[in-house]
Amino acid sequence: MELADSVSFCMPKQSDISWNALLNGYAQVGVGKEALKLFCRMRESEMKFNKFTLSTILKGCAASGNLREGQAVHSVAIKMGYELDEFLGCSLVDMYSKCGLAYDALKAFQQIKDPDVVAWSAMITCMDQQGHSQEAAELFWLMRHAGVPPNQFSFASLVSAATDLEYLEYGESLHACICKYGFETEMSVSKALITMYMKNRCPQSGALVFEAMTDHDLVSWNALLSGCHGYESSDLGQRIFYQMLEEGFMPNIYTYISVLRSCSSLSDIGFGRQVHALIIKASLDGNDFVGITLEDMYAKSKCLEDADVVFNRLINRDLFAWTVSITGNAQNDRAEKAIKCFSLMQQEGVKPNEFTLSGCLGGCSHIAALETGQQLHYMAIKAGQFGDVFVSSALVDMYAKCGCIEDADAVFEVLVFRDVVAWNTMICGYSHHGHGQKALKTFWKMLDKGSMPDAINFLGVLSACSHMGLVEEGKKQFDSLRKVFGLTPTVEHYACMIDILGRAGKFDKVEDFIEEMKLTPNALIWETVLGACKIHGNVEFGEKAAEKLFELKPEIDSNYILLSNIFAAKGRWDDVRRIRMLMFSQGVKKEPGCSWVEIHGQVHIFVSQDASHPKIKDIYLKLEELGQKLTAVGYIPKTEHVLHAVSEREKKEHLNHHSERLAVAFALINSNSLRTIRIFKNPRICKDCHDVMKFISEITNREIVIRDLNRFHHFKDGTCSCQDYW
Ligand SMILES: [Zn+2]
Ligand SMILES: [Zn+2]
Repeated sequence: MELADSVSFCMPKQSDISWNALLNGYAQVGVGKEALKLFCRMRESEMKFNKFTLSTILKGCAASGNLREGQAVHSVAIKMGYELDEFLGCSLVDMYSKCGLAYDALKAFQQIKDPDVVAWSAMITCMDQQGHSQEAAELFWLMRHAGVPPNQFSFASLVSAATDLEYLEYGESLHACICKYGFETEMSVSKALITMYMKNRCPQSGALVFEAMTDHDLVSWNALLSGCHGYESSDLGQRIFYQMLEEGFMPNIYTYISVLRSCSSLSDIGFGRQVHALIIKASLDGNDFVGITLEDMYAKSKCLEDADVVFNRLINRDLFAWTVSITGNAQNDRAEKAIKCFSLMQQEGVKPNEFTLSGCLGGCSHIAALETGQQLHYMAIKAGQFGDVFVSSALVDMYAKCGCIEDADAVFEVLVFRDVVAWNTMICGYSHHGHGQKALKTFWKMLDKGSMPDAINFLGVLSACSHMGLVEEGKKQFDSLRKVFGLTPTVEHYACMIDILGRAGKFDKVEDFIEEMKLTPNALIWETVLGACKIHGNVEFGEKAAEKLFELKPEIDSNYILLSNIFAAKGRWDDVRRIRMLMFSQGVKKEPGCSWVEIHGQVHIFVSQDASHPKIKDIYLKLEELGQKLTAVGYIPKTEHVLHAVSEREKKEHLNHHSERLAVAFALINSNSLRTIRIFKNPRICKDCHDVMKFISEITNREIVIRDLNRFHHFKDGTCSCQDYW
C-alpha cells in the first residue's frame, strides 16, 4: 500500500479513478484511517468526488468506527445531491450501523427509493446486531410487503432477532418460511436456527437442524452446545461434547464455557473435572472467561475449595467472579467467608450489584450478622439498589432472621413487588417471633392482593396457629390447603397440625389424626408428639413416641433427654435412670450446644462447657455475680434436667455453663447497656436457661433476643414473647 500511495502522488494529474483505486485499496485492507487521511487531502485539493469515492470513504469510516468523518461524508453527499442514491444509501446504512447508530442508519435507509434485498438485509442485520429485535422483525414484514424476496442474510439475522425475542412461535414460522425459499441448507441460516432452538429450550429441534447440515464446523457445534445448560436431569451437553471430540474438532473457549455451564446444571462434578483437565491441557485455563465459568461450576457443585483456587488465579476478578464467590460461600454454610469476601471486593474497588448484595445479605441472615447486614442496607440505599426486589427481599429476610421483626416489617411495607417468597419470609418471620396474629393477618392480606399461597406459606400459618393455641383456625387452614388451594400436604404440614392439637392437650385427636394420615409417620411426627407430651406431662403417649424415635433415630440425644424429663417431672426416678442407661449403652453423646453473638461487627462463638474463649475468666466471674442476684430473686436451678451422674454442685455448674449463658455474660460485659442482646443458639434453649434469661432481662433491665432452631424468644422485664410455650 505504501508503494501505491507514493506512486499515485507521482502521477502528473490525478484522476478520480486513480484516487478511487487508492481509497479502495485502503478500505479493503482495513486501514480506514489512511483512507480518511487521503479523503482530507482530496478535499484540500478541491477534487470532485463521485459517489464511488464517497462510498469507498464511508467503508473506511465504517471499518474504523469513525462517526465524525462519516457524518462529514454524509453532508458532502447531501450537498452533491447523492442522498437519494441507492448505492450510496447502502454505504451510509453500513457506516451508521457499524458506528452503532441504528436509528441514523434507518433514516439513511428510508431515503433509498427502492431498496433491494442487499439494502433490506443490511438494515435488518443492523437492527438485530444492535439489540432492536422487534424492529428487525417489523422491517422484515415491510420488506415482504414491498415484494422483495428475502435472502440467506436477511433470514440469518431475523432468526437471531427471534432468538433474542425469546419468541419460539415466530422462530418456527421463520423456519417454515426459510424452507419455502430453500435456504435451510445455508450454513449461516442453519447455525442461527440451531442457536434459536437451543436458547428456546427445544434441543430436539436444534439437533434436527444440526443433523440436516451437510457440513459441520466449530461454530455449528458451539451453537448446538450453547443451549445445553439448565437441564438438571439431562446429560445432553456431555454427549454432544464427546461426539464433537470423537469427530476430531478442537474445542475453543466458547465450547468450554457452554460445556462447563451444562456441568453446573447437572451437578456432575466428575465430568466437570475432566473438562477442567482438558482446559488445562489446551492452555486455556489462563483465560478469565473460562476461569469465571469454572469457578461458577465448582461453586454450584458445592466444591468451594476448588472454586476458591480458580478464583484466586483469575487475573481480572470482575463483579461476576466476586458475586459467584460471595453467593457460593453464603449458600453453603460459609457465611463468614462470604462476608470477608465482600469486604475484600470493596477494597479492590469493585462495586456490588443487586445479586452481590442479596447474596451477602443471605450470608448475614445465616449467621445473624446484624451489624454487617445493616451496613449492606445502608450501602444499598446509597447505591440506589434498595428498590430492587432481590435486595429488599433479602433485607426482609435478614432483619427477620436477626431478630429485628420491626425492621423487617418496615422494609416489607415499602416493597414495590412482593413475590410469594417475600410474603413467606414475613409470615414465617412473624410466626417465629411469636406474633401469631400478625402472621395470620399478613397471610390474609396476601390472599387479598391476589397472590396464590404455596406450601411454605401454610407452614408459617399453621405454626402461627400453634403458637397462639388456635385449634379451630388451624384445622380450617389445614383443610383449605387441600380443598381450596389444591396443594398436597407434606409431612411438615401434618407435623404442624399435630403440634397444634398436641400443644392444646388434645391427645385423643392427635392419635386419630396420626391414624388417618396418608403418610407413614416419620421422626418429625414423633418428635412433635414427644414435645407436646413433655408440655402436658403425658407419660404414656410420650413413652410410645420416644420408643418409635429410638428405633428411627437412635443417635439423637434430645429424644432421650425429653423422655427422661417427662419421667423426672412425675418423680419416676427409676425410669429416669433406665433411660439414661439406655442412652449411654447406645453410645449416644449429647451434642454440645452452640451459641454465637455479634459484638462490634465480630461474631463470637461459644460451645457449651467449653473454656477456650480468651475472656472465659471474666465470663465466669460475670456468671457468678449474676448467679447470686438470681438466687436472691428466687431462681432455683432445675438440676433434674442434667443427665450426667455427678454431684448436685457439678450439675449446677454444668447448667451454668450452657453456651447461651456464656454468650449472654460476654455480651453483658462487652456491649453498650442500651443495646438489645441478640444470641443465636443451636439446637434449642433448655427450660432452665429460658428461666435464667427471663430473670436476667429483669435484673439487668436489658432486652435479650434468642433465636434457637425453631423460633425467637424475646426476653423483656422478666417475661418471654413465647409465653413459655415453645
Ligand atoms: Zn440451657
Ligand atoms: Zn421463650
